[in-house]
Amino acid sequence: MQVYRLPALSDNYIFLLHDPVSQIAAVVDPAEPKPVLSKLAELDAELVAIFNTHHHADHVGGNRALLQKFPQLIIYGGDRDRGRIPGQQVFLQAGDRVQFGNQIAEVFFVPGHTLAHIAYYFPESGDLFCGDTLFAGGCGRLFEGTPAQMVDSLARLRQLPDDTRVWCAHEYTLNNLKFAITVDGDNPILQERLRDVTAARQKQEPTIPTNIGIEKQTNPFLRWDFPALQAATRMSEPHRVFAKLRGMKDLF
Ligand code: ZN
Ligand code: FE
Repeated sequence: MQVYRLPALSDNYIFLLHDPVSQIAAVVDPAEPKPVLSKLAELDAELVAIFNTHHHADHVGGNRALLQKFPQLIIYGGDRDRGRIPGQQVFLQAGDRVQFGNQIAEVFFVPGHTLAHIAYYFPESGDLFCGDTLFAGGCGRLFEGTPAQMVDSLARLRQLPDDTRVWCAHEYTLNNLKFAITVDGDNPILQERLRDVTAARQKQEPTIPTNIGIEKQTNPFLRWDFPALQAATRMSEPHRVFAKLRGMKDLF
C-alpha cells in the first residue's frame, strides 16, 4: 500500500491510499475533490473507498463529488456521525475492521475534537490516520468532547509502536511546536525538533507524517504525566494538566 499526501484547501492534507497490484485507491478525509481526481488520473486508479474520520467540512467536502464520479465507492465513517457525513454508507464502531486491498485497518473511537471522531490504524504497514485528534506537536481543539475524553483518546494512540507513521490532517506543526516550547522549553529533543521544523517550513516542505516516538518525546498533549508539563500547568491529574494546556494553546 502506497500513501500519497495531497495538499488541499489552505492547510489540510488528504491521504490517498493506492494498491498498485489491483489499481484501486481510497482516500482519507477528502476535503475537496480536485486533488483526488488529478492524483487518480495520474495513477490511473479507481477510487473504491472514502474513509472519513469525522464530519467537519474540511474532511468531508469532497464526498459528494467523488461519489458522483465513482458511484460504486463505499463511504465509511463513525457510527455516531450518522446524519453528519455526506453519503455515509458504513457506520463504524471501536474494534471494527475495514479492508482496503489486502490491508486491514482497525477502527479506534477517539472522541474529543468531536464526539464521533474515529481513527484508522493499519497494523501491518504501521500507518495511523487520525484526522484532527493527534497533530504533529499538538492535538485538535475540543469542539464537542471533554478533556478527559481527549486524554483517553490520545492515550490509546500513545500506546501504538514508536515507529507508527502518523498521518494527521493539517499542516499545523510549526505553530504547535512554537507553543510547545513555551511549556516544555528545557526539552532538548523539542528544541531540536523546533529548529528542524522551522527550516523545513522555510523551504515549504511538509512535516507530515510524524511518528508516535517523536510525538511522545515532544508533543505536550501526550506528556500530561511528565514533571515539566505538570509544573508548567501547576496540575497533576492527567485531564487537568491536559485541560490547562489546551486552554493555553487556544489563546496562544
Ligand atoms: Zn475537524
Ligand atoms: Fe480539520
